[in-house]
Amino acid sequence: MTTAQALPDALSEPARAFAAGPHRLVIGGERLEAADGRTFETLDPATGRLIAAVPYAGAEDVDRAVRAAREAFEDRRWTGISAAARTSAMLAFADAIDAKADELAELESLDNGKPLKLAKRVDVKLAAEHIRYFASWPTHITGEVLPVAQRGMHCYTRKEPVGVAGQIIPWNFPILMAAWKIGPALAAGCTIVLKPAEQTPLTALRLGELALEAGLPEGVLNVITGDGDTGAALVDHPGVDKIAFTGSTVVGREIGGKAGRALKRVTLELGGKSPNIILPDADLEQAVRGAYQAIYYNAGQACNAGSRLFVHSDQYDDVMSGLIEAAGKARIGPGLDPGTQIGPLISAEQEQRVRGYIEKGKDEGAELLTGGDSLEGDGWFVEPTLFSATSDDLTIAREEIFGPVLVALPYDSIEEVARRANDTEYGLAAGVWTRDIAKAHQLAALLRAGDIWINTWSAGDPSAPFGGFKASGVGREHGREGLEAYLENKTVWVNLG
Ligand code: ADP
Repeated sequence: MTTAQALPDALSEPARAFAAGPHRLVIGGERLEAADGRTFETLDPATGRLIAAVPYAGAEDVDRAVRAAREAFEDRRWTGISAAARTSAMLAFADAIDAKADELAELESLDNGKPLKLAKRVDVKLAAEHIRYFASWPTHITGEVLPVAQRGMHCYTRKEPVGVAGQIIPWNFPILMAAWKIGPALAAGCTIVLKPAEQTPLTALRLGELALEAGLPEGVLNVITGDGDTGAALVDHPGVDKIAFTGSTVVGREIGGKAGRALKRVTLELGGKSPNIILPDADLEQAVRGAYQAIYYNAGQACNAGSRLFVHSDQYDDVMSGLIEAAGKARIGPGLDPGTQIGPLISAEQEQRVRGYIEKGKDEGAELLTGGDSLEGDGWFVEPTLFSATSDDLTIAREEIFGPVLVALPYDSIEEVARRANDTEYGLAAGVWTRDIAKAHQLAALLRAGDIWINTWSAGDPSAPFGGFKASGVGREHGREGLEAYLENKTVWVNLG
């Protein structure tokens, strides 16, 4: 369906100039075409039209990128400089992101479809903050001296970088997911091959350039664009020591299996079907606003979307009315339109997937309370959709939809709702809305998920660990734990005798 390049008039000159291309892989300080000259297209989800052709990294390009990262690591181009100098370089990188915040936000809004002001206020701002937070770590990475029993022995630990990190990220928060991966790896002293999702390659490519301009040594951050095969080649490459992946649980299982066989380090941040629980004593207005944001933010394309809403039977009708009213007022449109609150879905394929779930919801007997349709015309827009259901076994109540579709379910007691909330293969996040401090903490202990949000949703900070129980992932990102995932421990014994 694509034809000529068609960039929206709303783009500023710098964003237009970058988006228009030509685009190049960022490998070892150079900007390169794919070895075989292959490209793929990135499309504007608001119109379905062509933004630009982007190099398709095949096995040879993956190899080039991994070699560049390996060489930078072995040459100690990054670990060899002082920890303080690493901090300075990372701070310069964060400043470079801030300096280009408008351009980066426009590129993100164009490529992903999300509202421009959110791209700027959330995605780009938090990306810079994430790099800045991890910039504070290098001078604090220390081993310890151990009080071993043997006399005449000096025993200490060293924390050393794992080596070359292969980082594979999704399309829903492209620049932010890149920053989540790049920050701890750089702080630890690793070198990187980053692969953005094929749907949203632009901001990662721009980040690769900005890192070089900010003074990161060549080969420390390499960016290759391509699809799942490119990602698979990166996972399989023997020169990669650690894989960090954010994406679907299906692909996460495959990567986890491969990493296990190759005994590579691995962290996985995967899917979710997160429960959001409104207790009878909650501030209902706040809870409705929170439940709305929890699912419809980013058009529901978030691993931590609050996609199952449990509401006490006594408040059920009131909460449903509040949500229906809010969804009816939502302004859906292209991300670059200033008034837009909900943008398009990422692709025609994703729209079809979400529509398939909506049909399944109806077929299996859920009651459609609002939404359910796509918008007429170009682009991949789906209305904020709300189902009411009485069974937790419906497909739409069990599977991750990754779209603006909320399933509401009534409950009667706390024990019942905790059991039902936990009855899922996932465990990324859970929310509780209540004024009762004891119940809040009881549920926080009972719910099996990596993040528990009380009277809020999706609160986060670079210092606060994030990741999943069960099929939602392996390991944690952010904070000390996120950093540790890029460090090896070495124990040194010295006979002083
Ligand atoms: P989604 O279904 O939401 O697109 P995916 O898990 O398929 O999520 O994709 C997330 C990221 O993983 C993307 O960068 C994609 O190119 C990459 N990817 C997809 N399949 C594989 C694979 N088999 N091995 C490695 N990376 C992959």
